[in-house]
Amino acid sequence: MAAKLRLQVVDEAFKRRPVMVEAPKERPSEYFGKYVFNKQKMFKYLPAKVYKKMCDVIDNGAPFDRVIADEVAEGMKKWAMELGVTHYTHWFQPLTEGTAEKHDGFVEHDWKGGMVEEFEGKLLVQQEPDASSFPNGGIRSTFEARGYTAWDPTSPVFVIGDTLMIPTIFISYTGEALDYKVPLKKALYAVDKAATAVVKYFNPEVKKVVSNLGWEQEYFLVDESLYAARPDLVMTGRTLMGHDSAKNQQMDDHYFGSIPARVEEFMKDIEIQALELGIPCKTRHNEVAPNQFELAPIFEETNLAVDHNMLMMSIMKRVARKHGFRCLLHEKPFKGINGSGKHNNWSLSTDTGILLHAPGKTSLDNLRFVTFIVETLKAVYNHNGLLKGSIMSATNAHRLGANEAPPAIISSFLGKTVTDLLDHVEKADVDALTVVGKKSFKIDLPSIPELLIDNTDRNRTSPFAFTGNRFEFRAVGSEANCASAMLTLNSAVAEALIDFKERVDALIKGGEAKETAILKIVREDIKYIRPIIFNGNGYSDEWKAEAAKRGLDCETSAPLIFDNYLKESSIKMFEKTKVMTHFELEARNEIKWETYTKKIQIESRIFGDLCLNHIIPVVTKYQSMLIDNVHKVMGIFAGDKAHKISKENLYIIEMISEHESFIIENVEKMVEARKVANKIESEREKAIAYHDTVAPLLEAIRYHVDKLETIVDDEAWPLPKYRELLFIR
Ligand code: ADP
Ligand code: MG
Repeated sequence: MAAKLRLQVVDEAFKRRPVMVEAPKERPSEYFGKYVFNKQKMFKYLPAKVYKKMCDVIDNGAPFDRVIADEVAEGMKKWAMELGVTHYTHWFQPLTEGTAEKHDGFVEHDWKGGMVEEFEGKLLVQQEPDASSFPNGGIRSTFEARGYTAWDPTSPVFVIGDTLMIPTIFISYTGEALDYKVPLKKALYAVDKAATAVVKYFNPEVKKVVSNLGWEQEYFLVDESLYAARPDLVMTGRTLMGHDSAKNQQMDDHYFGSIPARVEEFMKDIEIQALELGIPCKTRHNEVAPNQFELAPIFEETNLAVDHNMLMMSIMKRVARKHGFRCLLHEKPFKGINGSGKHNNWSLSTDTGILLHAPGKTSLDNLRFVTFIVETLKAVYNHNGLLKGSIMSATNAHRLGANEAPPAIISSFLGKTVTDLLDHVEKADVDALTVVGKKSFKIDLPSIPELLIDNTDRNRTSPFAFTGNRFEFRAVGSEANCASAMLTLNSAVAEALIDFKERVDALIKGGEAKETAILKIVREDIKYIRPIIFNGNGYSDEWKAEAAKRGLDCETSAPLIFDNYLKESSIKMFEKTKVMTHFELEARNEIKWETYTKKIQIESRIFGDLCLNHIIPVVTKYQSMLIDNVHKVMGIFAGDKAHKISKENLYIIEMISEHESFIIENVEKMVEARKVANKIESEREKAIAYHDTVAPLLEAIRYHVDKLETIVDDEAWPLPKYRELLFIR
């Protein structure tokens, strides 16, 4: 019986002991990147001229010459075989949350009756997986199943187990992107070009601007036995029912608390594996909610950081099982406590330093700092709805707008120092500037403390906060591929910078000195971006009203938020920066709506089943027991006395009936709502129907199930409760 199962798994979970992990003998700095075909390995395993060419490809974006492909593949194979590798796979990021791979062996016939290990350049460079079952939004019909994966040489190849993993892009036969990597790489190219052109005003020697990403991955751990006894967790990644635990996060005793032994071994394990794969893990700690934790590496170039995050998520899921855990990456596995996000720390840097870093010594450096802050904010302001779209999903929707994570309105927190600085620049008297040649250019900027990083107040409610030398995009979901947010942000910033340069150049052409021209445009833009700056409490109702007045996107329905991708300003921006075409945007939106629908559909199905065949039977049985008891009391005692004795039980019997009727009636309604929605052809309209008619019923019914949980005999309750899921480790 199910109830017995619950008590049994609770017992099992309680008894589980830490799985001890033996750290490697070497220091982390010594085993870092052990399983990565990085430059060091290239130097060792490739002919000198091939190595040089590869460096040019990686560092300067030179095209990957197919002529060297065979030699690169040969070197890789040699290195990999020394590690016992027998297979290779193209590893790509389709438009689902995860990654995909199909393994092939190195072995080929030697045509002498035996086998040999082979790995030719063409296998490294390109593959043609039958990709018809990956989401494509109508770009390819199923009979045109071909899709190509092609190696992205800027993402290093690595080894997991017996397999050589080759990070690739994934495109359709007709050239449209079917993944996150292609548009991300285009966005990074666009922001490099646009930012380099602007940086040259200040530092003419700069050749390249790199976009950086430092992600902070939040996650929950749940004991494996308890997880297995929760079909909702297994199927949807979150609990669809479960009453608050008496104790949850109100004591603030989990955040930064000491890490439980079982968890610590898990963390040690994933960090060692991550470091060996070249992921520069640095920080680990408990998070706010019970059983919630965080892992953060040091920031890296954005494309690499995205690969590393995808890889990290799969390592976490895999290694958790070894330790008797399940790792939950869902944005909101538990109601009533914090959800999980993935802060995306973003900045731009040149070969000479970080562009968003607190200003340098000269006026020109200060002006550069202000320029990049302001133009980033302009991008965020112009595309605030779109940026919200870039992080929106059926799962992240539970987090955004709830009273804990960033609100469902994108705004930016700057802190006092930078806000004062912008005020000052806006009011400064441009005409009073003395511009006598480059050297004596002076702009009266207040000096900005070197320690700005530690000075920026921590405003946890802001979805896009300036934190000293970077912006922190906090609305990204824990389960998401960061590429979605990063490609949108980087292309929006590229657009703002292109536009900035055009306007500055026009003034210069009209005879204005460079510095004055820049200052004039910056001041114009400071005025323009005011509505996106908000230093107050993002959770307050006043802010919602104020944000609407400022014209910021306040929509909360995920299917409608996706509309932002097809707004004229978004299409124009993506086409101008050559990141995505109108056609690709449309196809991607089809996928977003379809995915949204499927997620709610699965939740609704499993929830209905749980209600009808887990909860109702148990509750009815308990109710019968009470009825039985009342009958017996009536047999022993007479009239009023019997009634008095049975008063409480009669009350509970009635309450149970009320909750039960609500549940049964509304599960029926929910099934009907699904039927109606399923008939709708348009993916957009269908997703809207799921959002408006199915999802609210899930919430409404849950309330009654959770009430029943507090009434029914604990021994009879079939599903592990919050106090068990969250506190047993
Ligand atoms: P917190 O939790 O206080 O926000 P953490 O130290 O946990 O900070 O994580 C901050 C992340 O930001 C790390 O990945 C760090 O490497 C990254 N980071 C620091 N400076 C920059 C920068 N200039 N650009 C991008 N990421 C950065
Ligand atoms: Mg952070």
